[in-house]
Amino acid sequence: MPLTLHDQVAIVTGASSGIGYGVAKALADAGASVVINYHSEPAPAEALASQINHAGGHAIAVKADVSNESDVDRLFQASQERFGGVDIVVANSGVQKDHPFVDMPLDDWRRVLDVNLTGQFLTAQRAVREFARRGPRPVSKALGKLILMSSVHDVIPWAGHVNYAASKGGIQMMMKSLAQEVAPQRIRVNAIAPGAIKTPINRAAWETEEALERLLKLIPYGRVGEPEDIGKAAVWLASDESDYVTGTTLYVDGGMTLYPEFANNG
Ligand code: NAD
Repeated sequence: MPLTLHDQVAIVTGASSGIGYGVAKALADAGASVVINYHSEPAPAEALASQINHAGGHAIAVKADVSNESDVDRLFQASQERFGGVDIVVANSGVQKDHPFVDMPLDDWRRVLDVNLTGQFLTAQRAVREFARRGPRPVSKALGKLILMSSVHDVIPWAGHVNYAASKGGIQMMMKSLAQEVAPQRIRVNAIAPGAIKTPINRAAWETEEALERLLKLIPYGRVGEPEDIGKAAVWLASDESDYVTGTTLYVDGGMTLYPEFANNG
């Protein structure tokens, strides 16, 4: 992949596993210096940082809970102290706490909204403030690039996961409204909506042969996605190759949002 992000700095939240890990690695491969945020697992985040540093790149691992305002402040402070600021922010952290709606404990409703929606709000707000503080840089046409990690469940309803789907639906309108608000500052705001990607969050959906077979019925393209699929989309959205793209959700889902059950039954 060409080094399209050379001399740019990226923060990726929830990057000690799964999609965030893959996105941090892809951004580093594309030449960005990377702040790898982790919540509770320092080892994989630190291992990724040293792998990037040994390969000649630049990375640090920083602990922060994205639902906590002062933690998010410290995350951006760390980027400023180590790299002078930030050009690309990927708000990726997310959790699932699934229950039938009638049994949904308020704590699990709140936790999912706190991490998935409020966490992305806090991260996005600091990103916009930081882009404005630092001002234009010759490394990109945009003042800053913000990517929110949504899900196909910002459009596909999901019984038994009402808190998660509500959080992702919220991300869609937060992204669009924010994109409209900050476009005049030349800040680009977009979302990526992954389909089924093989990560710890959905292990039960692909771990056994039966589960995998059921899952593949929902994916016209016939394979489960990998974190690298999302990493490549993030590099494009972060680069000037997508300079005229803002306020858009990029569905990276092997066709999951194409209503595959209608293919032979319309
Ligand atoms: P994952 O569980 O590997 O990643 C989630 C990450 O968020 C973890 O690293 C976790 O430590 C971090 N996190 C959790 N709470 C946090 C907090 N309070 N502060 C900071 N970080 C926190 O699963 P994933 O699949 O890589 O999920 C990443 C994102 O992609 C999530 O937003 C998820 O909703 C979204 N997504 C995943 C899929 C999929 O199929 N895997 C599909 C659609 C959307």
